[in-house]
Amino acid sequence: MRLIKDIYYLLLDFIYPNKCIVCKRFVGHNDRSICSSCWENFDEMPKQNMVKELSVNDGIDSAFSSWNFKNGFDDVIHYLKYNDMAKLGKELGYRLGKNITPGDFQSIDSITAVPLHRVKYRDRGYNQAEWIGKGLADIWQIPFDKKILKRNRFTISQTTLNKEERQANMANAFSVEKDVKDKSILVVDDVLTTGSTTSACAIVLKNAGAKQVHVLTLSAPSISEN
Ligand SMILES: [Zn+2]
Repeated sequence: MRLIKDIYYLLLDFIYPNKCIVCKRFVGHNDRSICSSCWENFDEMPKQNMVKELSVNDGIDSAFSSWNFKNGFDDVIHYLKYNDMAKLGKELGYRLGKNITPGDFQSIDSITAVPLHRVKYRDRGYNQAEWIGKGLADIWQIPFDKKILKRNRFTISQTTLNKEERQANMANAFSVEKDVKDKSILVVDDVLTTGSTTSACAIVLKNAGAKQVHVLTLSAPSISEN
């Protein structure tokens, strides 16, 4: 059986060469979506609670992230956002869940993802943050529930807005659809920048009775560069 599998992968590599999504070098089908030399090149952040570094942190008890948004990890995030890559999303969730563990947070009862608006979800067909959350749920054995939060309306792109404008843009953008009373919820996203999106999620969760709200993302811009 092993030999058949080897031949199968050899043929597969020949017919459909598999490339690392970052450096585009060929990698075997036994390998993952990202090659090992790219993983070595990513800039892993020191493990620390970043909640005080966020410009908007209302409602958030702690915030962790794993890789700096550079050295190719920016390409990973871009790739994940614009390609339907459940496998890559879960792979990243596993890696993230090994770097940052449930013990780094006070407590976690459920994992959820920052939701997309249903129109955006329908157009794209996926929410990359959900895959990351599912990867974490698998490796930590903590339940993932994508229906805890709902995005009620479109929010305009935040890149040109200042802090107050971002907060106003996000206010009431989310609602809570499940019973979160006295629960600790982990909100997962791909990138953590100002914190305005995750803080908007945290505020509605706290208003619905959540005991704690923690945030975990794959990536964040280097704190020193903020
Ligand atoms: Zn590579």
